[in-house]
Amino acid sequence: MKLSHLTDHALFFDTKSLVIHERSVVLKLLYHLKEIDRRKLYSDYKCSSLFDFCVRELGYSEASAQRRIVAARMLQDIPEIGPKLKAGKLTLTNISQVNQFYKNHSPEEKKEILQEVEGLSKRECEKKLFDLSGKENKPVEKQKRLSKDQVQVAIVLSDKTLEKIERLKSLLGQDLSMDELVLYMATEAIKNVEKTKFKTTEKPRSSLSPAKVGRVVPAGVKRDIYLRDKKCTNCGSIHRLNFDHRIPYARGGPTNKENLRLLCFHCNQRARMRAGLGVSPPP
Ligand SMILES: [Zn+2]
Repeated sequence: MKLSHLTDHALFFDTKSLVIHERSVVLKLLYHLKEIDRRKLYSDYKCSSLFDFCVRELGYSEASAQRRIVAARMLQDIPEIGPKLKAGKLTLTNISQVNQFYKNHSPEEKKEILQEVEGLSKRECEKKLFDLSGKENKPVEKQKRLSKDQVQVAIVLSDKTLEKIERLKSLLGQDLSMDELVLYMATEAIKNVEKTKFKTTEKPRSSLSPAKVGRVVPAGVKRDIYLRDKKCTNCGSIHRLNFDHRIPYARGGPTNKENLRLLCFHCNQRARMRAGLGVSPPP
């Protein structure tokens, strides 16, 4: 198509109609993402989350993926934003900004705020949100790579957290840098969680009496599976790992090393849906 042959008038109206079409495609896409999220379909593509799926499978930049996911999830609670997005009264950016300022507020409250920011540019919207929320400055947590093996992290801590860090410093009685201190805390916390959740103790019991073995995984089996798998066996995520029966326990699948595997929360839920079992509440 040679655009140089179009009249100014035709060029203007073609562009206007493309924008209308673009908005309706974006809205359709959001509904698709919402349904993919509900089914946790991303797990079938070895993705650990909808965000991971949008970036790796659909090719969005991280920021674009984030904006679309926020809007898709908000459509779930506030369906009224659909027609407004289509009409151009709201943008993905406005929705994302409102969500950032009012993260823990109810859908009703968010709906009211969204009405206030209709038709505003990104900057105008941000000004309005500062004004409405009464916030002076929103906490920003940023990461910036300084070298091959060093990242600068800006975090916002409450007084309570800071007091605990100071207490730990004085208990350890060593002059540790913040990096050494965080490494110490993370190492100890990982040991603790691995011990309680995955039974990585020195001498775990390898089995329970047959009467007690049901869907309860004996400590020794937990430990072996954790040390064997270490991460979600479907998508590779290390977040919210659960023990999953490959053949569901409800279908007679045994509670043993061969039938058990580690899955992250989302892959576990997807596996349950595919097996025709209901989803369980988040741990
Ligand atoms: Zn997974």
